[in-house]
Amino acid sequence: MAKAFGVNRSTIVSAMEELMSYGMIEAAYGGGTRIASNTWSLFLSSPPDWNKYISSGPFKANVPTIQVINKLEFDSKYIRLGTGEISPDLFPKTMMEDLMKVLPKRISSLNYLGPHGLPELQESLSKRLAAMGIEAKPSNILITSGSLQALQLISVCMLKPGATVFTEAPTYLKSLQVFQSAGMDLNGIPMDQSGLMYWKIEKVLQGSLLYTISTHHNPTGTIMPQGRRREIYDFCSANRLPILEDDAYGELWFDEKPPLPIKSMDKSGMILYTGTISKTLAPGLRIGWLVGPESVVDRLGDVKMQMDYGASSLSQWALTELLESGAYDDYLKTLRIKLKERRDLALDLLERYFADIAEWTAPKGGFYIWAHIKKSIPSDKLFHKALSKNILLNPGSIYDYKENRSIRLSYAYADKKDLETGLQVLSTIIKKYK
Ligand code: PMP
Repeated sequence: MAKAFGVNRSTIVSAMEELMSYGMIEAAYGGGTRIASNTWSLFLSSPPDWNKYISSGPFKANVPTIQVINKLEFDSKYIRLGTGEISPDLFPKTMMEDLMKVLPKRISSLNYLGPHGLPELQESLSKRLAAMGIEAKPSNILITSGSLQALQLISVCMLKPGATVFTEAPTYLKSLQVFQSAGMDLNGIPMDQSGLMYWKIEKVLQGSLLYTISTHHNPTGTIMPQGRRREIYDFCSANRLPILEDDAYGELWFDEKPPLPIKSMDKSGMILYTGTISKTLAPGLRIGWLVGPESVVDRLGDVKMQMDYGASSLSQWALTELLESGAYDDYLKTLRIKLKERRDLALDLLERYFADIAEWTAPKGGFYIWAHIKKSIPSDKLFHKALSKNILLNPGSIYDYKENRSIRLSYAYADKKDLETGLQVLSTIIKKYK
C-alpha cells in the first residue's frame, strides 16, 4: 500500500512562489497554475550547481594568505620580498639563445615518452648524481613535471590516508598542502641550528615517512651538518622510517659546498630523493626528478602516465643538452656569485634597517633569510600592513602556524633597488606598529 506523506500547505505555497519567481510556472486567469511554456528552455540554459561540484575532490583550498600571494605576484605594483624564484635579471638569456639554436638538431620528435622520461636525461642525471655521492642507475630515476609532482605521486601512491609524515617545523608550504590534501597526518618536528631534532619524534608507526629539506632549508635557510645527517640516517634506519630528502636548493651554495645529501649514505634503498631545476634555472620548464628503488620508480612512473602522460619532452631535451654541453655548470658558477652578492646586499640592508627590530641568521646558500620580528606583531597582520604599502611578504604562519612572528625574506627575486625600498618601508611599518 502506498504510504501517505503529509506536506504542510505553506511549503507548497512557498515552492509555487519560488517557481513563479523563476518564471517556471505561470497562472492563467481562470485556467489555474501551469508550467510555463518556456520552462524547458529555462531549465536547459540554467547552469548546474557548480558550487556543489567544486567543493568535491580531495584537494583542500589554499589558505587565504596564499591565495592572495598567488594572485598578486603577477601585479607589477608590488615589491616581492618573499618570492622563491630567481629574478628575471638572473635569467641566462644568452645561454638560452644558444640552446635554442642547437636544440632542433637534437630533437627527432616531440612525441610522448616512456613512463620514466627521456633516457638521455636519466643517463645525464645518473652521472651528475654520482658526483654528489648518490649511486643511481638511470632505472632508479623518474623524471617528473617539477619535483612537487614527485611529492604528489608519493602521497597518493605510497602513503595511506592518516599516515604520519614527519616534517621540519616550519617547512616548504606546498609540501604541507600536498600531504594535507592527500589526508596525511602531519607531524612538525622542531628545528635547531642543525635542522630537524629527530629525537623529538615520539613514536614511529608503520607506513610513516620523514620529509626533510636538508640543504638551504625552505623557509629557514638552515644547512644540516654532516653529523646530524648521519644521526638522522641512523635513527631512521633503526626505526625503519623511510626518508624523503628534498634537495631543491642543494646546488646553490656560496663559499663552500654543503655536506653530501643524506641519500649518499643510503645503501639499503630507504631514502627517496628529489631534485629540480626550478630554483637554479627555470620553474617554467617544469622538470624535476625522483631517485629511489626501481620498484618505487616503476610504480610512480605508471601512475604519472595516468596523471599527465609525461613531463614536457621539449624541456627534457633542453636540460639534457645543457647538462651534456657543460653550459649548465658554467651558468651555475656565475649564478652562485650573483646570488651571493644579493645575499650580501640583503644582509647589509637588514643590518641598516632591522638591527634593533629583528633577528636572523646569515644563510650560506639558497634564497632565504628567516627573520624573527622582536615586537609582537602577528605575521598575518604584518602581511596586510605591508600589502597596503605595495609589498608582498611571505609570513611565517604559512609555513607553520606557530611561526607567527617570523617572515621568509627572499633575496633571489626582487631587484636590488626594490630590495632596498621594500626592506626600508617594511622596517618603518614594524617600527611604527603599536
Ligand atoms: N621543494 C622545495 C623545498 C621547494 O622550495 C620547491 C619550490 N618552491 C619545490 C620543491 C618544488 O619545485 P618544482 O615543483 O618547481 O620543481
